[in-house]
Amino acid sequence: MVRIEHLGIAVKDLKASIALYEQLLNTPCYKTEVVETEGVSTAFFATGPNKIELLEATNENSPIAKFIAKKGEGIHHVAFEVENIEAEMKRLAALGFELLNETPKNGADNKLVCFLHPKTTNGVLVELCQEKR
Ligand code: ZN
Repeated sequence: MVRIEHLGIAVKDLKASIALYEQLLNTPCYKTEVVETEGVSTAFFATGPNKIELLEATNENSPIAKFIAKKGEGIHHVAFEVENIEAEMKRLAALGFELLNETPKNGADNKLVCFLHPKTTNGVLVELCQEKR
């Protein structure tokens, strides 16, 4: 794992949260992107070498809608940058971590991603992400 790439934060109202985080971080949101396959609308902020990703559900079946219904708004996942996502997925699966997707999928911000089930990671939803080359 190279570094923490971003923290994903589940929010109810993306527009209001963008305004809030622009104040909090004192930096403008540099990108918004809808990932329809994941049922999320996202907004990104740069904080030094790391990022903050705000996530709003685009429909009621979205994982973000379910997360907020269960736990409320808050930190949803921690994303680690990896050099080679397929090699990391193989390594982690062999160690017994449960991968939520068997092949890398398209994520926001030009990334290939894979999620690890929180039950094998102390309750934390972990995202592996690799820049698309
Ligand atoms: Zn993410």
